[in-house]
Amino acid sequence: KRVEVPASEHGIDPSLLDERAVKVVRTLTDAGFEAYVVGGAVRDLLLNRRPKDFDVATNATPEQVKQLFRRAFIIGRRFRIVHVVYGRGRDHEVIEVSTFRALLGEASAERVSGNEKSSKHELAGKAHVVDAEGRVLRDNVWGPQIEDAARRDFTVNAMYYEPQSQLLVDYHGGLKDLRAKQLRMIGDPETRYREDPVRILRAVRFAAKLGFGFEPATKTPLKTMAAQLPNVPASRLFDEMVKLLQTGHGVASLEQLKLLGLGRGIFPILDAVLQPDGSLPAGAQGAFVQQALQDTDARVADGRSVSPSFLLACLLWHEVKARWQTLRAAGENPVPALQQAIDQVFEARVGDISGRGKLAADMREIWLMQPRFERRGGSGPFSLVEQPRYRAGFDFLRLRADVGDADAGLADWWEDFALGEEDDRRALLEEAK
Ligand code: ATP
Ligand code: MG
Repeated sequence: KRVEVPASEHGIDPSLLDERAVKVVRTLTDAGFEAYVVGGAVRDLLLNRRPKDFDVATNATPEQVKQLFRRAFIIGRRFRIVHVVYGRGRDHEVIEVSTFRALLGEASAERVSGNEKSSKHELAGKAHVVDAEGRVLRDNVWGPQIEDAARRDFTVNAMYYEPQSQLLVDYHGGLKDLRAKQLRMIGDPETRYREDPVRILRAVRFAAKLGFGFEPATKTPLKTMAAQLPNVPASRLFDEMVKLLQTGHGVASLEQLKLLGLGRGIFPILDAVLQPDGSLPAGAQGAFVQQALQDTDARVADGRSVSPSFLLACLLWHEVKARWQTLRAAGENPVPALQQAIDQVFEARVGDISGRGKLAADMREIWLMQPRFERRGGSGPFSLVEQPRYRAGFDFLRLRADVGDADAGLADWWEDFALGEEDDRRALLEEAK
């Protein structure tokens, strides 16, 4: 049932809205279409938070949307949407515009026997296609708003907001759930988790991010349905893990995973650090990861940048070190031993996630810098501080020192050296002899 909630009741502060998102909505409605801010942005507005990005939903097709904006690009094939782009460079902004989609059962989809690549010719021009396993290859059948709402995941994520009339449109009691601080899956939770197991991880993420609880039926299937997660492509799982740990609520996410019994067996990278009960190990190893997550959360809260390579390097450091020690004990020289240890850890925990070359290279560099920090003589220190990734390597050393995994005096020395003038550097090198 469509419920329209007036401003006096929902209380959204219009100043939290992004001008450009409002402009996109206005351009579409001026052209005679329906258009709304939708999803996470509406949820955040209702919580009186400034949304980090804005999605717009409309009954205009991608082609119709594209025609209305100067810089608009149709992207995606499985799920075609339009990126409307404003500004350039660092402060450029993308508003994602998606067309209302129809609620379709798998039964109505066309089925192809192969995958995305092998079925290329069969896919051409088709809007709704699944592969042999029921995985959705094309999801581009347009429908009315009521169906678009029913396809979304949680009731708090399925509301629409019209900035001009300031009306909130709510089909599934999202406002009530939001006020009760609970996540409720739309439809039958088990079916919805089975359809897309990533929703399990989204449930964990929103519980952590918003501090919400679960409506009981939404919570019950989480643990058993998690067995479906290995069917999800590794790259999508990886992206979701990064969102859990790196978007400002990593500590809370780990806590949620543990509470739900989902800490282990989902992400190989977390399996490398978590105890069987999902908690961090005692001692320096656990403290190191805890501190890395806390620092990441604090940086996000301050609007500073974070890089996944740094956090992932922290999560896997203990394992790299253990393998490194084993190889050295077997007689290998330190540097080749470290390189081999890193290769082994990538093999065991990261796999080949395509398009992650840069990330893996950055992690490798952070680790390979660590033994170089131990050598404070000759020209080594001068070239080390000039490395583009020096800062990340040093921050890593500092974090290690904070938990007793490296000498605090060593970290101080490098800080002084990096900041020092030529004379200071000479003196520091003398002192380190
Ligand atoms: P965030 O604050 O992390 O951006 P969000 O709710 O905006 O949270 P997005 O991933 O940006 O999440 O997705 C936007 C909206 O699209 C969601 O609010 C939800 O309505 C819908 N959605 C996204 N992913 C799914 C999914 N896997 N299943 C159903 N609906 C989804
Ligand atoms: Mg979003």
